[in-house]
Amino acid sequence: MTSASYLCGSMHSDHAELTAAIAALRDGHLVGLPTETVYGLAANALNAVAVARIFEAKKRPHFDPLIVHIGKRSDVDLVAREVPPVAEVFMNAFWPGPLTLVLPKQPAIPDLVTSGLDSVAIRMPQHPVALELLQALDFPLAAPSANPFGYVSPTTRQHVLDQLANEVALVLEGGSCSVGVESTILSFSEGQPMVLRLGGISLEALEAVHGRPIPTQLSSSQPHAPGQLASHYAPARAIRLVAHGEECPAPGAPFLRFYQKEQPEWSLSADGTTGSAATRLFGVLRRLDEEPDGPEVWIEKAPEAGLGRAINDRLVRAAHRV
Ligand code: AMP
Ligand code: MG
Repeated sequence: MTSASYLCGSMHSDHAELTAAIAALRDGHLVGLPTETVYGLAANALNAVAVARIFEAKKRPHFDPLIVHIGKRSDVDLVAREVPPVAEVFMNAFWPGPLTLVLPKQPAIPDLVTSGLDSVAIRMPQHPVALELLQALDFPLAAPSANPFGYVSPTTRQHVLDQLANEVALVLEGGSCSVGVESTILSFSEGQPMVLRLGGISLEALEAVHGRPIPTQLSSSQPHAPGQLASHYAPARAIRLVAHGEECPAPGAPFLRFYQKEQPEWSLSADGTTGSAATRLFGVLRRLDEEPDGPEVWIEKAPEAGLGRAINDRLVRAAHRV
């Protein structure tokens, strides 16, 4: 598409950029959207032609449904035809924020958005630019991560421009994503929650609200979500993993530790927390790809708790070779 008429090019999403984004989305074009998880590739969720452009731009298979983003709680009813009481509890606890809920779909949502499923994934993001845009629109936004399908997700405006500049009318500036990994996805069958993807809300936090253990279904054989595919979030550079706390078995090989105070540039986390590692993860994977044919890199996994689980899930898929 020709995008010149919408391009603004300033460093911050000011009023003019927001106005341009609204106009572009109304016209059925794609806009790069900062959220607290990763940058999204957004289109009018009620416009099947606009949504089709997302799949084309990402080269995303049509069997992979999209998340629909809303700016206020009352908009849930435009997207979902029914909200089970247990889902309300999670909305109250975590919205706006990095939690996606899979609910029965309203007929107004095109089948393309949900890949023909009778359910739809919904989220209210927390990022102020995303919220401001969503609240200014009179339609929800379908928005997967703004990267070619299967590649590392974008956490800065520049990451989006590096790969999809020709596909979008503009990319709103929203700084670096504070969470850095995608939303946690929760589905409900027979009123019981089940985690389909680990992400920005930890399993522990969900279980604390639910008051009981919550099962997970993160398999890669029959994916319900692209993030469940065995190879995903994958850089071109070869990656090998070691368990948290272990040494690199290949002497002299590049080794990215989870955290080492003396060498922050060779650490996933800047301060030893999993929160920092999540924020930095995709940026680090993209940096490794600046040398795609460089030697295999060894990466120490995060501790398997809290956000560490979501990080390790991404690392395992990033390291998987098909
Ligand atoms: P992305 O935005 O690219 O991180 O991916 C959005 C995620 O939501 C994908 O993993 C989708 O498969 C998942 N998703 C969207 N709709 C549904 C649905 N109806 N049931 C299960 N998962 C869904
Ligand atoms: Mg994605």
